[in-house]
Amino acid sequence: MTQGRPLLNRRLAGFGTTIFAEMSALAVRTGSINLGQGFPDTDGPEEIREAAVRALRDGRGNQYPPGPGVPELRTAIADHQQRRYGLTTDPDTEVLVTAGATEAIAAALLALLEPGDEVIAFEPFYDSYAACIAMAGGVRVPLTLRAPDFRPDLDALRDAITPRTRLLLLNSPHNPTGMVLTREELTAIAQLAVEHDLLVVTDEVYEHLVFEGEHIPLISLPGMRERTVSISSAGKTFSYTGWKVGWVVAAAPLVAAVRTAKQYLTYVSAGPFQYAVAEALRLPDTYFEDFRSDLRRKRDLLGEGLRAAGFEVHRPQGTYFITTDITPFGEKDAYAFCRALPERCGVVAIPNSVFYDDPDAGRSQVRFTFCKKDDVLHEAVGRLRRLAP
Ligand SMILES: *Cc1c(COP(=O)(O)O)cnc(C)c1O
Repeated sequence: MTQGRPLLNRRLAGFGTTIFAEMSALAVRTGSINLGQGFPDTDGPEEIREAAVRALRDGRGNQYPPGPGVPELRTAIADHQQRRYGLTTDPDTEVLVTAGATEAIAAALLALLEPGDEVIAFEPFYDSYAACIAMAGGVRVPLTLRAPDFRPDLDALRDAITPRTRLLLLNSPHNPTGMVLTREELTAIAQLAVEHDLLVVTDEVYEHLVFEGEHIPLISLPGMRERTVSISSAGKTFSYTGWKVGWVVAAAPLVAAVRTAKQYLTYVSAGPFQYAVAEALRLPDTYFEDFRSDLRRKRDLLGEGLRAAGFEVHRPQGTYFITTDITPFGEKDAYAFCRALPERCGVVAIPNSVFYDDPDAGRSQVRFTFCKKDDVLHEAVGRLRRLAP
C-alpha cells in the first residue's frame, strides 16, 4: 500500500496468479506429470525451426520489422485464408501481425471498447478474456456452456443482449470444453450480431484442431465481414507456442483500430519468427492432416484412460483438452481435487471451475491436456488408474 491504497488497481484486483502458474509450480514441486497447461512437449516441424535459424543468420527481422508485420507473413496469412476458407483478404490493409493471439485479443478489446460497454463471452472463459475486458473498462457478461455437450444456448444469448452490448467475444474450437460451433449456431449468432449491430471478436487459435465436423470462420458468414475481428496464431497449429506469432484478419477499418492499440503495446515482435511462420502457413495439406490425426489419436488414448480410471469424460470435438467430471468419485470440488491429485497419483490437471463466474456451473469439472508424447500419456493413464476404486 502507498497513500493508503492497494498497489494493484481496481480493474486488476482479483487477477492475481493464473491457475496455470499455480498448478505448474505444483507439478514441479511434486515431480508430477503436467497435463495442466496446454503446450506440446515436442517441437513443431524441423524445417520451420530451420527457417527461423536462416532468418536470424540472414539478418531478416533482427531489427524492428514493419508495424503491421513483415509482408511475407501478411501475404502468407491472406493466402491461407483463401486456400482454406475461400476468403479474399488484402494483405496490406486487412491483416495485422501480433505478439500471439493474446496480444491480438488485448489490442482488439482496448481499441474497440468504451468503459461500461458490455462484452458477451462464453464461460468457461479462456483466462485472459476476463482480465482484458477489465483492463479495457468493459463489463463481462457470461454465456454459460453447460455439460455434457457445452452447446451455447442461443435463446440465452438473445436475452443477454442489451442496449449496452458492444461486442461478442467468441472462441471456437473452445478451450477448455472442446466444443466446436456448428454452421447453424454460427448462422444464428451472425443474425443476432447483424440485428443488434454488434462487433464480434473470434478467437480461432485451434482452427486446425477439429476432430469432428469442421471449423467455419464466422467472418465468412453473410453480414459478418465488416463487423468481425478474426484472430489466430501459429503457436497451437505449428507447436511453437514460445514464438508468440499471432494475427488479426478483419476489414480495413477494424484492422486500423486494432493496430492503433497494438502499436503502443509491443509495436512489433518476433521478427525472424515471422518469416518462419510465413513458410509454415505454406506447408502442404498433409502437414495439417497428419497433425490433426495424431492429436485425434492422443485424444482417444487419454480419453479411454480417463474413462477407465473412473472419470466421466466429455469427448471434445476440437482443441487439445478433455474436460472430465469427478462426480463418479463422489467428489464435487474440482479445485480441491486438482490440489490433491499430485499426492494421490502424480498427475496435474486444471480445475475448470476457475474459468466460470457461475460457481455451480463448473464446480466438478477437471481439464486434462493430451498434447504430450505417447509414453507420457501412457504413464499418466497408468498413474490415474490408481484412482479407480
Ligand atoms: C493458447 C490460447 C491463446 C493464446 O495464444 P498465443 O498465440 O500463445 O498468444 C488464445 N486463446 C486460446 C483459446 C488459447 O488456448
